[in-house]
Amino acid sequence: LTYNPVSPALVERLRRICGPDAVHLSDSPGFARYSHDQTKDTRLHAEPEVVVFPSTTEHVQGILQAATEHRVPVTPRGAGSGLSGGAVPLHGGIVASVARMNRILAVDPASMTAVVQPGVVTNALDAELEPLGLFFAGYPMSEEFCYIGGNVAENAGGGRAVKYGVTGRYVTGLEVVRADGTVMRVGGKLFKNVTGYDLVSLFVGSEGTLGFITEVTLRLMPRPRYRGVVFVLLPDVEDALAIVNELLITERLTPSALEFFDDFSLHQSCRVLGESIPYRDAGAALLIEADSHDEGVLERERERIQAAVRRYSSVATFSAETEDEVNRFWRIRKQVPWSIMNYSSPRSSEDLVVPIAHIAEFVREAKRIGLRYDTPVPCFGHAGDGNIHTSPLRNPNHDIEHWHRIFPQLQRELYQLAHRLGGTLSGEHGIGHKRRAFLSIFLDETALTAMRSLKQTFDPLGILNPGKVVDLEPEV
Ligand SMILES: Cc1cc2nc3c(=O)[nH]c(=O)nc-3n(C[C@H](O)[C@H](O)[C@H](O)COP(=O)(O)OP(=O)(O)OC[C@H]3O[C@@H](n4cnc5c(N)ncnc54)[C@H](O)[C@@H]3O)c2cc1C
Repeated sequence: LTYNPVSPALVERLRRICGPDAVHLSDSPGFARYSHDQTKDTRLHAEPEVVVFPSTTEHVQGILQAATEHRVPVTPRGAGSGLSGGAVPLHGGIVASVARMNRILAVDPASMTAVVQPGVVTNALDAELEPLGLFFAGYPMSEEFCYIGGNVAENAGGGRAVKYGVTGRYVTGLEVVRADGTVMRVGGKLFKNVTGYDLVSLFVGSEGTLGFITEVTLRLMPRPRYRGVVFVLLPDVEDALAIVNELLITERLTPSALEFFDDFSLHQSCRVLGESIPYRDAGAALLIEADSHDEGVLERERERIQAAVRRYSSVATFSAETEDEVNRFWRIRKQVPWSIMNYSSPRSSEDLVVPIAHIAEFVREAKRIGLRYDTPVPCFGHAGDGNIHTSPLRNPNHDIEHWHRIFPQLQRELYQLAHRLGGTLSGEHGIGHKRRAFLSIFLDETALTAMRSLKQTFDPLGILNPGKVVDLEPEV
């Protein structure tokens, strides 16, 4: 793909469309942040030529029409919290940030829906919904800063996906601007809709490559009134994974969260937080949350969870009931990615997902691969839905050249392991350009060709977020 550089005439046109203060060039403060998301590998970073901040759908239309005429790529950007390089402008051009499209347009308790612009911070919507006893159940664990539009574009999922499912389950309608600037509205405040092909689902998870999302209609759920957490410190990973199997497969329970920590992730997080629980004596941990609208139901579920946990010898078990206690254990979980990121660099956050029957085998083998390469491979995450964040880190005793020598092979072994167990490349963080080269391990040529023809249909000139997921032409 070849593109034109952003010309002064295009900059002038963007200023006329969005207003002079909405167009930032490389000398603007903070410009550097638009060359990356939370993917720290600098080889995955790229500078935009201009960053523009639309406030309305008409602004987005104008930007895309201008970009199409000038043959300049446009990369939609949410909060930039992505972990696959999705918001990185690989071919330069325009980054269009939705930070100013941050209005909650309607909350409609009568139809149990909310209509929002894409730049609404996930927790800002939650703050509106809480007094109404409602919530958006598909939120990811970056909810303090990620935007709803980014969540939809990534089909993000979070700690409670084991019970509630991921973002896509709650998206019932979208307004999307296509690469040529035309607006398309699909779905609505509807919980059932088979009127033609399911284009809402097509745009969910399309990572800004098929259309620019300018409005989202979300289905809301009744907010559970009661929740409790059982936090278990266990001697080793095997016990933790046996309890996961017991809860999901033997007991057929549906906890609202079932989060797993191996020794490395538990220790790093608790150490950074200065936790007083006896984590140093534990080789793994589980955070098991149950919720309900009925206190008695919650109590019975908690008893069943505790009974299952008691069948194993634990280092310590904590039962959290108050909001403060529950938050304390979630804080340990939420600290894991940050404490791992800060341990050493380079490193890689992987997002593999396997069928729940194979979680234990996956973690066991992934740890063996790490041992063979003499480098930490912390495993943590959403054990309840088989989505284990496997995060190879450079052993601080090895130099960076050594890491660059071993990493490609180590990564390939992890991917092949997931593939052998019926798993796939990403459960929630997406492909972006970080994982593009590996798609063909998991998707056959027929599926890849079908994806390319979708791209061709919606964006024949490759204007929207080129270099992500699939391109118009096959890789050579
Ligand atoms: C500490 C931490 C924890 C995280 N936890 C989770 C988790 O639990 N679950 C999870 O799924 N992810 C998680 N993430 C990853 C990330 O937060 C999610 O992928 C999030 O949904 C991205 O939203 P964003 O607004 O930051 O999007 P960005 O990173 O800005 O963009 C992501 C992609 O969406 C596209 N995009 C953004 N807005 C639009 C739009 N309006 N129209 C079309 N395309 C658009 C971009 O082009 C890009 O391809 C975590 C990240 C961090 C740093």
